[in-house]
This record gives sequence, structure tokens and C-alpha cells, in this order.
Amino acid sequence: MNPLILIIEDEQAQAQILQYNLEAEGYRVKYAPTADEGLLLAQEYKPDLILLDWMLPDMSGIEVCRQIKTKPDTKSIPVIMLTARGTEDDKVRGLGVGADDYVVKPHSIKELIARIGANLRKSGVGNKELSYADITMNTETHRVNRDGHNIKLGPTEFRLLKTFLKRPQKVWSRSALLDHVWGTDIYVDDRTVDVHIGRLRRALNAHSKKDLIRTIRSAGYALDEED
Ligand code: CA
Repeated sequence: MNPLILIIEDEQAQAQILQYNLEAEGYRVKYAPTADEGLLLAQEYKPDLILLDWMLPDMSGIEVCRQIKTKPDTKSIPVIMLTARGTEDDKVRGLGVGADDYVVKPHSIKELIARIGANLRKSGVGNKELSYADITMNTETHRVNRDGHNIKLGPTEFRLLKTFLKRPQKVWSRSALLDHVWGTDIYVDDRTVDVHIGRLRRALNAHSKKDLIRTIRSAGYALDEED
């Protein structure tokens, strides 16, 4: 199942934008508009991560964080605090309430999603995400993203990219790629590899000028930022 994220945020419009974007990334989302409800949902659903607004009508985000981090069954859930620019972010750092990370509002969705991914990886959740340079792949939802653009790939190109992402910069011979992507019991011509590499390259470069697939003459291919 995809990671579950709990949003505790009283500004409904902001919460909706967050929810929409997180669901588009393949996350499941629960939403609480108050601290009380947030604490209840945290207890009930044990989300994989909590996005917590600093300013809530019934309790400060700091206090909510403190409560989450003192209860044995919720204390290991990563908490990202959403703070307004100014002194709040300094306080999050200074108070030591146990928040795992904080993001200053107004934040870019892209930045927030990157932080969520990083915090989930740190806590051992969300290892379904592979990334290299500006490419990310969710191996569970099969979503591929390059620099904010959704990339559509055929099944073979998806497996090719997945193979590359698992070992960035490794040079793969055509026969090694055939073994990994097509399997050893299927006979496929070496040139088939070139055809699918070509398709993958076009899909990845649709919105980007930088070609990340390096062709190594007489050796094969690598996913590599360096030319
Ligand atoms: Ca608020």
C-alpha cells in the first residue's frame, strides 16, 4: 500500500491543494482541520508521515508535535512542520519539539514533496522511489517524473529506466540489459535494445535538453549526468 500522509492544517484551501498534489504523487491522504482531530487521526491511522501546520485554532502546532512525539505509538512518525516565514521557523529549530523537518510557507509543492520523500526514506518508508538527477520513479505507482513533468513510458522503457535507476552511472552492455529487462529465456536481437533506448531517450528528453543516457561506443549504455 502507498504511504499514508496526515495533513493537519486549518486553512482548507491550502490543505486541498496539498491533498490534490500528494494524491497525484500516489500517496494516500487523511486530513484534519484542527489539532484535536489531527491527534485522533494520528492515533487511529498511524500515518507514515504528518504535515503539521504551526498555527491551528485550538492548539499550537508545537504542542501537537510534542504530544505526537511523546506517545509511544506515534513518536516514530516523521513530522514536517509548516511554518510562516519569520520567527516561527527559528522557533521550530530552537524549541526542540522533535519535529523531523520544517518547511517555510509559502512553499513550493515540489520542494515539499521532495522533503516528504526524503523523510519517508529516512524512516524506511517509501523506498519505492528511485531517483537520479532530476528523474524520479515510483516503482509502485509506476509514475515517472522528470523536472516536474510526468513522463509516460511503455512497459519495456519503464523496466529499462528502472534498471538504470538502480545502478546510476553503471555501464550496461546490451546483453546485460537484455538479461535484466527482457529476461534470459527470450531471444531478442541486440538492436532491439537500441530501439527501446531510443524511445526512452525521447520520452525523457521531451521537456529537457540534457540527455542523461550516455552511449558508450562498443560497450553499451549508462544513466549518467556527466558527458
Ligand atoms: Ca493555520
